[in-house]
Amino acid sequence: MTISKVVLFYAFTPLADPHAIRLWQRTLCESLGLRGRILISRDGINGTVGGEMGAVKKYLRTTKEHAAFAAMPIKWSAGTGHDFPRLIVKVRRELVSFGAPDSLIVDSSGVVGGGTRITPDALHELVASTDVTFFDGRNRIEAAIGKFAGAIVPDVGDTRDFVAELDSGRYDHLKNSAIVTYCTGGIRCEVLSALMIDRGFAEVYQLEGGIASYGQRYGDDGLWNGSLYVFDERISIDFSEHAVVIGRCFQCGSASNHVENCAEPRCRQQVVACSHHRVEAGCAEHSTSELGASERSGALALS
Ligand SMILES: [Zn+2]
Ligand SMILES: [Zn+2]
Repeated sequence: MTISKVVLFYAFTPLADPHAIRLWQRTLCESLGLRGRILISRDGINGTVGGEMGAVKKYLRTTKEHAAFAAMPIKWSAGTGHDFPRLIVKVRRELVSFGAPDSLIVDSSGVVGGGTRITPDALHELVASTDVTFFDGRNRIEAAIGKFAGAIVPDVGDTRDFVAELDSGRYDHLKNSAIVTYCTGGIRCEVLSALMIDRGFAEVYQLEGGIASYGQRYGDDGLWNGSLYVFDERISIDFSEHAVVIGRCFQCGSASNHVENCAEPRCRQQVVACSHHRVEAGCAEHSTSELGASERSGALALS
């Protein structure tokens, strides 16, 4: 029986020749029949790759032979065997697109000036000992189906919106609070926490390994509520059979963790949709009915 796996990984580490790394990674993945998306920059690597378990293990073993990636943490999850339509390996200016490439400093130990790394266990200790504000480092659609209890979800449709959001002053009252940033696998928080500290937030932690690692440790029996949005054909994953459903259908407001693309083909927005309303999924701009628009405002107020 074939067992399919998906792995999520990143490393912030200076790479002298990202193009050489790209060629090596592409050839390696092709030779093993793996698909997925790998981004490489002068600051490191950010990838998610899926395929047969043995092939994924060989891929990781070979990748870790490169000294820059030897200690790279890997987050594993169950795949379906068709989680990625193709293999994409690219060189980019930024590993994660905050639109602030020049404010990021990376050395051999990672991002310079980022938030204090905190493990899932240490997070529970911190929450038990002090008031903690969770700050979601993802986009609003990801948070619509899963987030940490009581988390602040910034009004962000795209990671590039974070800088303006932080500069808006909307979160200045948190500058002396203990803040824990979190994202899918941790990479966005490496940058986000550094941007926050740079803007005067005094006590910023970043959840090490992100929600993926937290879910492996605590599943749905801790501080996490809902489903984890993922950037592959699975769209979302649950950590257990008893994951709560916190998403609300854009149209009728009923509970759903299903995310659908807007029905307008050129639109890149996504909405939460129940099984009855998937076909007519429409973002605020491309709603298919007037009724939907008025009910949607009600549905948003619920979330
Ligand atoms: Zn519905
Ligand atoms: Zn739309």
